[in-house]
Amino acid sequence: MSGRGGRLAVVGLGPADARWLTAEAQDALAAAETLHGYGPYLDRVPARPGQTRHRSDNREEGARAAAALEQAASGANVAVVSGGDPGVFAMAAAVCAEIEAGPPAWRSLDLAIMPGITAMLAVAARVGAPLGHDFCALSLSDNLKPWEVIERRVDAAAGAGFVIALYNPASRARPWQLGAAFDCLERHLAATTPVVFGRAVGRADERVEVTTLGAAREVAADMATLVIIGSPQTRILARPGRTPLVYTPRAIAGVSA
Ligand code: SAH
Repeated sequence: MSGRGGRLAVVGLGPADARWLTAEAQDALAAAETLHGYGPYLDRVPARPGQTRHRSDNREEGARAAAALEQAASGANVAVVSGGDPGVFAMAAAVCAEIEAGPPAWRSLDLAIMPGITAMLAVAARVGAPLGHDFCALSLSDNLKPWEVIERRVDAAAGAGFVIALYNPASRARPWQLGAAFDCLERHLAATTPVVFGRAVGRADERVEVTTLGAAREVAADMATLVIIGSPQTRILARPGRTPLVYTPRAIAGVSA
């Protein structure tokens, strides 16, 4: 380890195992002297002799980012891992915020953000092409923003006709938020609007369910679930002997491609 030449890679692990990990991310994980991350994400990365690991709690993003930056600034080759894509409700923004608030030297560090497959893309791929036309992604977690802001955004997104991917729909500490979001969505969307629940996609306990907004409250969601709410254009296509396809056409009805 030299006194200079440190590096920080912020690595997206994708939603599941290494089959959905980019080659770039794989190389960065292999080259790192130290890995920082939330324990369950670190557990997905095969152990390497000589590589050290700093496990931290899910809620300690800022402290984890600062620790990784400090180590990289001292000359080490460091990687911080994130589930999915690090830029989507995850570590890359936490690292940027620490760089902004931290010592000037952190701004000249060698920093690489390595994308990963984000959960909404993995869930969408399981059912067809629900994100085939304009969509947006919202986090339902009110840990870092007030519920009023979330509700206003759900309302605006549904009112504007976007397909909506809901990250962090529910947890033990946040049991009512998804129901409140459905209340809000029902003011804009028909009860027949397709809704997709994707849980632990890509993992052994994966469960994907296609339903409608009118029946969505019957499906359980937890921390490992992503919910996709269709737009008025999104369709469910029955297929004999197979799971239905959910897709949002590329063109709005009446507009030719
Ligand atoms: N950076 C991550 C998202 C972090 S927020 C990404 O890009 O995917 C955590 C939320 O992501 C969870 O609450 C859930 O909504 C979603 N999520 C993560 N992995 C998932 C998976 N394998 N299947 C379904 N949803 C997942």
